Amino acid sequence: MKYIFVTGGVVSSLGKGLTAASLGTLLEARRLRVVLQKFDPYLNVDPGTMNPFQHGEVYVLNDGAETDLDLGHYERFTNCVLTRHNNLTSGQVYETVILKERRGDYLGKTVQVIPHVTDVIKGRIRELSDESKYDVVITEIGGTTGDIEGLPFLEAIRQFILEVGPENVINMHVTLIPYIKAAHELKTKPTQQSVAKLREIGLQPQVLICRAEKPLDRDVRRKLSMFCSVSEKAVIEERDVEHTIYEVPLTLHSEGLDQLVCDLLHLETPTPDLADWRKFVERVVSPSKRIKIAVVGKYMDVRDAYKSIYESLTHAAASEDCGIDLKLIDAESLEHGVDAQLKDVAGVLIPGGFGVRGVEGKINAARFARERKVPFLGLCLGMQVATIEFARNVCVIKNANSTEFDKNTSEPVISLLEEQRGVRNKGASMRLGTWPTKIVEGTLAERIYGDTEVTERHRHRYEFNMKYRDRMNAKGFVISGTSPDGTLAELIELRDHPYFVGCQYHPEFQSKPNKPHPLFKGFIQACLGQQTSRATHARADQESPRRVPERELVPQR
Ligand code: GLN
Repeated sequence: MKYIFVTGGVVSSLGKGLTAASLGTLLEARRLRVVLQKFDPYLNVDPGTMNPFQHGEVYVLNDGAETDLDLGHYERFTNCVLTRHNNLTSGQVYETVILKERRGDYLGKTVQVIPHVTDVIKGRIRELSDESKYDVVITEIGGTTGDIEGLPFLEAIRQFILEVGPENVINMHVTLIPYIKAAHELKTKPTQQSVAKLREIGLQPQVLICRAEKPLDRDVRRKLSMFCSVSEKAVIEERDVEHTIYEVPLTLHSEGLDQLVCDLLHLETPTPDLADWRKFVERVVSPSKRIKIAVVGKYMDVRDAYKSIYESLTHAAASEDCGIDLKLIDAESLEHGVDAQLKDVAGVLIPGGFGVRGVEGKINAARFARERKVPFLGLCLGMQVATIEFARNVCVIKNANSTEFDKNTSEPVISLLEEQRGVRNKGASMRLGTWPTKIVEGTLAERIYGDTEVTERHRHRYEFNMKYRDRMNAKGFVISGTSPDGTLAELIELRDHPYFVGCQYHPEFQSKPNKPHPLFKGFIQACLGQQTSRATHARADQESPRRVPERELVPQR
């Protein structure tokens, strides 16, 4: 078993997670079985309760663990399927240690960072290696070297190396080489100091991944090599990618990273076959057509808040040789009218979310998509608002709402299961992780999935209220997928619409390059189809201006 530890130097946001994931891609391409793991030094037990403004998206795993979004990179860039064991926070470490102390497991000893805290951390690395399903464990340490919170993790790694032998371990330090304009120079000093800090703790990196805006010249490489005590060929340049994050593995490969890592770890591997990956990148970079998709959400300025959704759109679009122009719309801005902002988009996507803010704007967006026959994909909350919209405006259930937004609504089309059963106290906690969905034969959903049984990841509390099923169905609202026992609605669609799909789960957590999720792929295909048919309408209209209603005359971009 071989181990790679990835630390970060100088500043945060260097893309350590992406770098670790990209190394995973390359090692898998060399036929190694790879698993990734993230250690987060913050004290939250998991990121589930953290605000997307601060922390970006919460990434949900099959087992329901609510984790850091870097685990999303790991799953998208490699074949590994992760569980709660792959994300460890300081909060969890201390929780474990304190519980043991309370149970008396330490037999009256003084409980200390070394060895008790570091033992728990080492235990988590061993847990993965003991499974003996892998050849390489890549562990990313969150935060920046020098942070007080990170120290116990680095100390644990120091001890771990001693235990497994240095020939089985690499420390890879991802660092910043800033370019100082006034001097026209890349500066190595911050990296020298960051590596010095690591050495103080007893860790010597063998590989430096240098994030830089300009190419590293020979002099800079030599300097880094000498002052940081790494071989010159282990100074790896990682410049900002030009187009897409999926270029990172290719960049690192051209810098020789995967060969270097295999040499350092004494791993004999074939040269990697990156043809499929390259093809995917080419399609992302230079697609033959483009479409504009509106994403209507709450955190539009925080790019990481809907990361997996944007990635899923990229995967699906690439598979159709298509590029996407995202139009990010703050739902609150749609509360008093949507036409101005939505009239030029090929499709509307409403992501998941919590709380009432922006909900009425999302309902307006769903209405626009339904009435104008614009392809629509509603994820989790997106499905719930589409349901409320249909109930209100088609079934004329005027007070239709979710009890999340109006506790006392007289028409709870979305509510807690307990409430549906007449129990008023809010005992429900979230439905998390993978649950099976049974798809109704003959529906659009069945065509999209090409299957009648699927499993998808959940993170929500509220459910469609089956009491309204028949009334809504009579008007064209179809429950196209349910839990196997038929009690929970998992998928909805509209009968008279080219593509109006909502799901109670989060398909965005299971999409990958070259393996787009069917719901996203179907959505993009529908957007492309609509775009072509709308363009035809527009052309017809130029010939006889009064034949086509104005709303059909949507400029394409
Ligand atoms: N707030 C909704 C619920 O709890 C939707 C959650 C989500 O979109 N992830 O059911």
